[in-house]
Amino acid sequence: MSPAVEDVHRRALASFLGLALGDALGATTEFMSPLEIKAKHGIHQRMTGGGWLGVKPGQVTDDTEMSLVIARSIVEQQGWNLTSIADGFVAWMRGKPIDIGSTVRKGIRTYMHQGTLEMPPNEWDAGNGAVMRLAPVCLFTLGDDELLARCALQQAWLTHHHALSDAACLCVGRMVQAALLGADRFELHALARELADSYPTFRFNQYKGMASGYVVETLQTVFHYLFTTANFEECLIGIVNQGGDADTTGAIGGMIAGAFYGLDQLPKRWLKKLDRSVRNEIETLTPQLVEGSPWFQQQASLSADGASQNN
Ligand code: MN
Ligand code: MN
Repeated sequence: MSPAVEDVHRRALASFLGLALGDALGATTEFMSPLEIKAKHGIHQRMTGGGWLGVKPGQVTDDTEMSLVIARSIVEQQGWNLTSIADGFVAWMRGKPIDIGSTVRKGIRTYMHQGTLEMPPNEWDAGNGAVMRLAPVCLFTLGDDELLARCALQQAWLTHHHALSDAACLCVGRMVQAALLGADRFELHALARELADSYPTFRFNQYKGMASGYVVETLQTVFHYLFTTANFEECLIGIVNQGGDADTTGAIGGMIAGAFYGLDQLPKRWLKKLDRSVRNEIETLTPQLVEGSPWFQQQASLSADGASQNN
């Protein structure tokens, strides 16, 4: 493997594992206020489990589980198959997940009963549930912005159909992909600013400390900590100690910060606690997602060209 390909593989793994780490860490402080967190944990920075869902240390929630549904589908189908993803969501919901958002439930039920793969636009669908499961889409569509946009929105509209959710999906997708390919923080900041320029409600420079499941507040929280901290651990600790929808802000922050800072920065003490089967599955699926991407295929054909020229 060329160093470039190796680096992208490692960043991809850090992104997907980062999502799971943020989810598991944030589950402890979900729906708490920063003051409540402080009173109970001081600074929450260990994989202790607990929270309103009573998770085990390192246990993940719907954010990671739905991401794994998408990842499994892409690998099993050897490509993008929205019906297969929708069927995967149905099977997941039937398995009585530990948590499920109301917009997600409504979308999956609508697919079950009517077979529709696209919810109608709805002003109440501006939650963060379509963004939180984006990591596998970013990996699989790497190198093709149009494909990213198509797949990100198709999976989003299974449950969430709203301009702000759409814009957030595209922005986070592009940030993860840029980071996978080695973008610096100025490039990531420019992508976040682009979103705030198109939709000023997303402005994040004067952070007010709101971290709800409303996709605008979710991204403001993620961007605030991404751009005011210096490493993966600090970024995630900042995010989850803000409370609110902490597992989901953690998951989204984790997927961007993981891609940006890379595998060596994921704290070992967190990885050790992360649910073993989740970690194993992410480690198995991630390289297969990357190898299905347009970027990987370009690299492969470039190196084949190089090899034939050498002959
Ligand atoms: Mn969750
Ligand atoms: Mn959540």
